Amino acid sequence: MAAIAFSDIVPAPKVLLHDHLDGGLRPATIIELAERVGHELPATDPAALAEWFVAAADSGSLERYLETFAHTVAVMQTEEGLRRVARECALDLAADGVVYAEVRYAPEQHLERGLSLDEVVEAVNAGFAEGMAEAAAQGTPIRIGVLLTAMRHAARSQEIAELSVRYRDAGVVGFDIAGAEAGFPPTRHLDAFEYLQRENFHFTIHAGEAFGLPSIWQAIQWCGADRLGHGVRLVDDIAGTPAGGDVVLGRLAAYVRDKRIPLELCPSSNVQTGAAASIGEHPIGLLHDLRFRVTVNTDNRLMSGTSMSREMALLSEAFGWGWSELQWLTINAMKSAFIPYDERLAIINDLIKPGYAKLIG
Ligand SMILES: [Zn+2]
Repeated sequence: MAAIAFSDIVPAPKVLLHDHLDGGLRPATIIELAERVGHELPATDPAALAEWFVAAADSGSLERYLETFAHTVAVMQTEEGLRRVARECALDLAADGVVYAEVRYAPEQHLERGLSLDEVVEAVNAGFAEGMAEAAAQGTPIRIGVLLTAMRHAARSQEIAELSVRYRDAGVVGFDIAGAEAGFPPTRHLDAFEYLQRENFHFTIHAGEAFGLPSIWQAIQWCGADRLGHGVRLVDDIAGTPAGGDVVLGRLAAYVRDKRIPLELCPSSNVQTGAAASIGEHPIGLLHDLRFRVTVNTDNRLMSGTSMSREMALLSEAFGWGWSELQWLTINAMKSAFIPYDERLAIINDLIKPGYAKLIG
């Protein structure tokens, strides 16, 4: 089957669970906001700046990769900056055909100019509300749920967990921890995860991206994560290939598959960070064949120069996936969202299934 073209995928309903607010800014917005707050950028032309972000993320140097976020986070320190970035994020995702998205960010990284944690959350929520209203008026409705992230090297996870629960009925649907995996195991934040479980709240954990199985195992069996941010290295617990007919799942891989624990895979980002050698060699092919609860995500649209439609087009090309596979990925993601079950079901039945029925024909 011929690969599905990017332009055909754009209007298809899509669901995104793993997208960083500070990794998806419009280059022109960064330039305008940087000028206003007096922040110096590596380029002042939008196209050149966009190229700089992708090249820095591609460089294989952790310092350059982290530098990209220094520039985006620098322009997200004011009510105006946060609100604008969130509004544009909603509009950009809606224009890409995303009907439901969970967007995450770390409030503790936006306090440099005096905002409080609550003010940060309220500014972002206001921006998303504006963006959602405008997208609906333009005929491309989108719903956005917020995940609040705590940085794994820092010590504010309990505070951010409490902040998440405080805003649970005001747009925040989940919690996450992110940042360097090596040396910062999720169990460092056990108090926060136990608190969230007592509050009947949802959370995902970045695990198994750069670092291996112990990180995934801790995230699930010690911390109780509902989903795995990436989880790519789970393939280290799988021997053989379906083609060879001798696949053997280790105990952890079997547990993840049996419990239908969702994997938030981000193909382009995983290639940039070296978690996968190429899209064609990305474990998503194997994990799909073995019927894990696979979802496709963008991670950082600016740093990867990508979108949901582009990620799906790349997968269609690499693995020969057609509309039925793209629908499967989309329904997997919607089933795994952190909003209530009846609301997930309504999006599947009212938007996703009819949307793909037209495309599958
Ligand atoms: Zn991420």
